Amino acid sequence: MDSQQFREFGKAAIDFLADYYDNIRDRDVLPSVEPGYLINKLPKEAPEQAEDWKTIFEHFTDSVVPGTTRWHSPQFHAYYPTGTSFASIIGGLLGDGLGVVGITWMASPACTELEVVTMNWLGQLLGLPKEFLNCSPGSGGGVIQGSASEATLVCLLAAKDKMIRRLKSLNPDIDEDLTKIKFVAYSSDQSNSSVEKSGLLGSMKMKLLKADPSGRLRGHTLQKAFEEDIANGLIPCYVVANLGTTGTCAFDPLDELGPICQKYNAWLHVDAAYAGAAFICPEYRHLMKGIEYADSFDINAHKWLLVLFDCSTMWVKDGYDLINAFDVQRIYLEDVKAEIKIPDYRHWQMPLGRRFRSLKLWTVMKSYGAEGLRNHIRSQVGLAQHFANLVQADDRFIIEPEPAMGLVCFRLIEGDKITKKLLNNLTEKKKIFMVGASCKGRFIIRMVICSQFTTKEDVEVSWKLIKDETDTLITYEKV
Ligand code: PLP
Repeated sequence: MDSQQFREFGKAAIDFLADYYDNIRDRDVLPSVEPGYLINKLPKEAPEQAEDWKTIFEHFTDSVVPGTTRWHSPQFHAYYPTGTSFASIIGGLLGDGLGVVGITWMASPACTELEVVTMNWLGQLLGLPKEFLNCSPGSGGGVIQGSASEATLVCLLAAKDKMIRRLKSLNPDIDEDLTKIKFVAYSSDQSNSSVEKSGLLGSMKMKLLKADPSGRLRGHTLQKAFEEDIANGLIPCYVVANLGTTGTCAFDPLDELGPICQKYNAWLHVDAAYAGAAFICPEYRHLMKGIEYADSFDINAHKWLLVLFDCSTMWVKDGYDLINAFDVQRIYLEDVKAEIKIPDYRHWQMPLGRRFRSLKLWTVMKSYGAEGLRNHIRSQVGLAQHFANLVQADDRFIIEPEPAMGLVCFRLIEGDKITKKLLNNLTEKKKIFMVGASCKGRFIIRMVICSQFTTKEDVEVSWKLIKDETDTLITYEKV
């Protein structure tokens, strides 16, 4: 493909995407394909001869597009949102198009420095304590990880390294390997699957402690777990607190967990993957009371801040905790002397190579402005409230727990079986997509306002789909 073909293909691709989003309501949310549809359809071997861009594009529209789930349809209400916006698509295109890999400062100075700048901007917008910001005195700073899962694992590994250094400074004779196997990590039984996985990947026992009936990990529960483990010769090392659990968007009280972590020198990581974005609006910041106790904090800008996957923004209070754990030097990686204010981000993450992710965050922040981003969050919370009002007015349903952010959980009063059936029937019809969870032992349906295009009318369309299916189901069950 030469540059002329690139221009043509690129323009056609942009036109395709603009039409795709303009017409997002025209197609079902879920694709009508069976498992294996694409594997069976596409040739078994790579093409021997070069293909023209028009052929490639035709195969994309004919074969690939029909198998994609419409995450940005206003009737997509599953999981949590994944961000997109025209500004982010352009930022992503430019970042990928430059084709740089920011392994050192010299490898692409703008790649490092735009990340420092955007992470300062976003950290300030979120109201993070200044200790987390690269622009403040001290050794804090932000870095963009690929996912919240990576952030949780990176901090677990750093916590392990920090703890062993501390213990060795107290007693240089301890056996490192025998000591490390005593380290324990903690989170609540409501935390995301990635938290449990970080324990598996990082070889640290991860205890999922029982959350209270509102889904929150309480201080007394953590304190008791620490005490029992210490009495058994174990060493509390790492705690993952949730601000916005995946199931029901519950918020752990950091002001209860923080002092316990501090007392026992355990690293406190805050997983605010979805709900953390809301802290750009001051009215939600009370939910992060106690944030000053955290060692690290992560939100997925690629969830609720209109930035395309992957852009998980993570801040640490002390960048040296990461550098000490992950700094591996080679002659070919030596360039300007990296220091904490102009970081060598390869020491702040797992891989060596890194994409120019900050460009899409930068284009979004510039194109929306802080005000535009706040409006986005507030409008989505308002739409969730509108949906909650519609559900509340129908006495066949119960909302539980209380709606939080853009999430409304509900179930049919008649019980779990019929609630599950309702969800299955709706999924089979492909017009609306939600997933289930459990709350107080009951099956609930999670309805999340995901698409940035969602309007009040779209919410009413979603509610009508749910209501009509319920009418049919209840009539059928009674016959
Ligand atoms: N933490 C929470 C609270 C989540 O809701 C999710 C995903 O929805 C994750 C972590 C995992 O995010 P990622 O896919 O970026 O690893």
